[in-house]
Amino acid sequence: MAKLYVVGIGPGSYEDMTIRTVKALGGCDLIVGYNVYIDIIRPYFPDKEYYSTPMRGETERCRYALGMAESGKKTAVICSGDAGIYGMAGLLFELRGERNEPEIEVVGGLTAACSGAAVLGAPLTHDFAVISLSDLLTDKSDIELRLECAAKAGLSIVLYNPSSIKREDYLRQACDIVLKYAEETRVCGIVRNIGRSGESNQIMTLKELRDYKADMFTTVFIGNAKTKRIGDKMVTPRGYRDV
Ligand code: SAH
Repeated sequence: MAKLYVVGIGPGSYEDMTIRTVKALGGCDLIVGYNVYIDIIRPYFPDKEYYSTPMRGETERCRYALGMAESGKKTAVICSGDAGIYGMAGLLFELRGERNEPEIEVVGGLTAACSGAAVLGAPLTHDFAVISLSDLLTDKSDIELRLECAAKAGLSIVLYNPSSIKREDYLRQACDIVLKYAEETRVCGIVRNIGRSGESNQIMTLKELRDYKADMFTTVFIGNAKTKRIGDKMVTPRGYRDV
């Protein structure tokens, strides 16, 4: 049966790919994805055929991959991090619909919340919410409501897509919502280019995060009321009483 793989490649480095991801990509002839991610994996799989489209070409890219897989070509669609977290997995199932060809196999990957948390220390040791600040596909009012509810519920919050040229001010606005429920000194962190060259991270207060100029290769972590700095790490206690 014709099969299409949809594969999470993790944050960027070869070491952060799962063995299943490496095997799935190794077994494919054609790899389809966004230019930036293709450039990341091409050195590891130099003999493959590649099809890349720029950022907003998602639907076209997925239709192309479904068609190639259906015609018998061993094809994989790649996404950064995990393919089902703000990735292509859902769109591929939607486009294929109820047909059973091609079969779609999702290969999980290490999402930025996990890989970024590991860089910062242990910021997500308790309950947390993941919220994307991109309003390309989500109403801004829904994003604001989710931020409000997560902050009110005392969750640690991971922000994906914290900024872009058109949304320069969104991180500041998100911080203002969280500041309704959290103190200015709340421990926060950012990680840029996780697993890629130029990786960097910074721990700061919520007040400082409000003025931070994030780019689209940044993942933001807002701690809960118990999150603290230990040395140069950001740590959310699990709650053990005998520490
Ligand atoms: N499917 C991806 C998320 C795609 S949304 C995943 O599971 O990780 C794109 C957003 O993810 C970026 O704006 C950024 O906030 C975050 N992100 C993904 N990869 C990253 C990386 N290597 N370094 C920092 N942030 C990253």
